[in-house]
Amino acid sequence: MALISLVDRVRRQAQLGQFSRAERLIRRIAGAPASEQRGSELAESVAVLSAAYQEANRLEDAAHLLDWAIEADVATGTAERGTLMRSLGELQIDLGRLEAAHRTLAAAIKIHRSALGDEHEETVRDLLSQADLDRAAGHPDRANRKYRELVEQLEQRAGPRSARLIEPLQAWVDLLLDSDLPHEQACVPAEKHLRRLLELQELAEPNGPEAGWTRLDLADLLHDHERCEEALDMAKPAWELGRAHATNDPELFDRATQWLAGWYQAHDRPGDAVELLGQSLRVWQFVTGPRHPKVAQAMGALAQAHLHAEHLQEADQLCERGLDILSSLLGDMPRASEFVQFSADDLASARMNFASLLWTRGAVALRQDNPLAVALFGGRALLMLDLNDDEVGEALRPTLCTARAEVLRLLGHAARTDPEAEALFHRAVEQARTGEGDVLPSTLEDYADWLQAHGRLAEADQTRKDVDAWWEVNG
Ligand SMILES: [Zn+2]
Ligand SMILES: [Zn+2]
Repeated sequence: MALISLVDRVRRQAQLGQFSRAERLIRRIAGAPASEQRGSELAESVAVLSAAYQEANRLEDAAHLLDWAIEADVATGTAERGTLMRSLGELQIDLGRLEAAHRTLAAAIKIHRSALGDEHEETVRDLLSQADLDRAAGHPDRANRKYRELVEQLEQRAGPRSARLIEPLQAWVDLLLDSDLPHEQACVPAEKHLRRLLELQELAEPNGPEAGWTRLDLADLLHDHERCEEALDMAKPAWELGRAHATNDPELFDRATQWLAGWYQAHDRPGDAVELLGQSLRVWQFVTGPRHPKVAQAMGALAQAHLHAEHLQEADQLCERGLDILSSLLGDMPRASEFVQFSADDLASARMNFASLLWTRGAVALRQDNPLAVALFGGRALLMLDLNDDEVGEALRPTLCTARAEVLRLLGHAARTDPEAEALFHRAVEQARTGEGDVLPSTLEDYADWLQAHGRLAEADQTRKDVDAWWEVNG
């Protein structure tokens, strides 16, 4: 009897990125004469490795492994076989093989129904995956109906306060918020289901982080409908929950902080933003230790709040401290070399962290009428953002372009000559076109102000019309 279980060995190897070793191990043990104990361990090991493949975005490898496991019948129990099949079906949806997914999920459901019954959790999961398939196949109505039936059935069998309603309600809300349905058929039921979800989550795990995520979803929905104060009251407890779980699950805290800071900024309450981001900085210092890129980032966020509140000195000092932390960890100009391994995205994130602090220092210098300092900080920020777009992951590219547009705008305001300023604004607009959020209209507006200040009224007018046109389409 091995001291370390097969599942743990596979998990450990997958964590180290030794996927083929893990897979060889599973296949070798599957080839040996089986005992029942080993059978269910094998099925679990397959599930662990398949999840690791998916996390590494190796969907084909995951599908291949599951295909083999089902074919070789590694699972002892029939129900386990059904569960492997559902995993394969879900992967086939992600891979766009919808007909194959249809067959696999139908087989999974048949197995679970006969082995475990209609009400069992596994069978319910199969039905949820079938609804996902309907969504993927472009039948949101069908998926909508399935979710409703599932929720109603579960309510009758397990009662209206059962935690088993959580998963289908979550999936239902995702579908509604993602749909093109009109307000009454999408937002209204989505709000109702989200509130119910929140109640169930608070009941199932008082003060658990899941309720925090639901609160943020609700806050988004409320704010989209201009119920601003309600949204704020909904998000504040999410931030508290995030703080309570910041050590083991920092993502909720991060998101909740960003949400609230965004709200305070949108409602022109810089004092509250300073208060919030100051508290957040102290939480990060406690969670990660005082010298960590996350702390530098939190200093940058607080510095921007200070900038909005016109506390220029505080803003500048915070950025200086943040840059100091980053330089001591990453050098003055982080780059990948044969000695330092950096993925393209990690490098881009590190450089954007630097650039954001430098931008804020430049913005402070602009308020202080110090164009030379603007040029120095802005020039360094631009150098940080000088990355090869093709190497940066698709998800980060718009953020990178946004950062460049902001820096170029800043430099435009401090340019020595008019032609130089104009060239910088043009470059800023070019970057903003592939940026995110409202960076394009705000860059154009900036440019329009500059044109107007230089007596070029007709061009300023035309640029403002472009801004209006953008809001028409994207507002
Ligand atoms: Zn609506
Ligand atoms: Zn609002």
